Amino acid sequence: MSILVVGSVAFDSLETPSGKRERVLGGAATHFALAASFFTKVRVVGVVGEDFLPEHEAVLTSKGVDTTGIEHVVGKSFHWTGSYVQNLAEAQTLATDLNVFADFEPKIPASYLDSEYLFLANIDPVLQSKVRAAMPNVKLVAGDTMNYWIAAHRDNLLKVLEELDVLIINDKEVLMLSGETNWVRGAKKVLELGPKSLVVKYAEHGSASFFSERSFGDNSSAGIFRAPATPQEEVVDPTGAGDSFAGGFYGYIASQGKLTPEVFRTAMFYGCVMGSLSVEQFGTERLQRTTREEIEARFQQLKQISHL
Ligand code: AMP
Repeated sequence: MSILVVGSVAFDSLETPSGKRERVLGGAATHFALAASFFTKVRVVGVVGEDFLPEHEAVLTSKGVDTTGIEHVVGKSFHWTGSYVQNLAEAQTLATDLNVFADFEPKIPASYLDSEYLFLANIDPVLQSKVRAAMPNVKLVAGDTMNYWIAAHRDNLLKVLEELDVLIINDKEVLMLSGETNWVRGAKKVLELGPKSLVVKYAEHGSASFFSERSFGDNSSAGIFRAPATPQEEVVDPTGAGDSFAGGFYGYIASQGKLTPEVFRTAMFYGCVMGSLSVEQFGTERLQRTTREEIEARFQQLKQISHL
């Protein structure tokens, strides 16, 4: 089973209480693809500039990720500068240099058209809709967004939400999108906007999912499921934790080939595992050297600490 992911492929300059890094490989699609690559085949659609070198592409291809859909154009790659010095739980954006990303028009290679799973990472909802329309035969569509699109491009975003099987966002985005101050009421309101299910990320506090009655073709799992996070003594760099969560979650679902309540719940545990690994080093460093055994060990740990 293959996942097609569309989103940013970037360089990130980061400052956290643990230190500073300049122009490390990042981007939502990159973090997602690396995490998902431990579970299934991943194909990336994105755009990069001349500063994106073969060694950067090799970070993805060495994990079996198909990068045919990463378009190389003249100019500089997207560059995001963020700081977590004030608050490790929330990135402060210091600069967003869109560069070649400003004119991004996703192009889907013919070899990607048989992808069964689609992940619309955090990009302009108009582009998310275009990619969705270009992939009419996918089995499942999941997506992400961020405060900027919720605030300034709401109508376009609402069209995307109607098409989603799974929306994966953080708790603050749930409140913003719903206009509620309570996250349970907020989650219910978000489901009314269209997605069949909602996964809410609470950073180091784990995640929760909410299912509408349309989630699994019946109402057997209507309601809520809560997954914990692994206890982390040190968070070096939270960048990409959300995308790594999404990659682990969706990668596991794709690896199972069917979506049952059981698969969905297990996928949330794998999402937590991949998110927790990614924060242990800067950028993609930790996932680059992660092994399948480590993932399984952490999965078992998560089961143990949350089992009654
Ligand atoms: P996360 O920490 O999981 O929310 O995602 C962080 C990643 O998103 C970083 O690697 C950034 O390069 C990327 N990013 C930051 N701002 C944007 C944006 N406006 N559009 C797309 N990607 C972004």
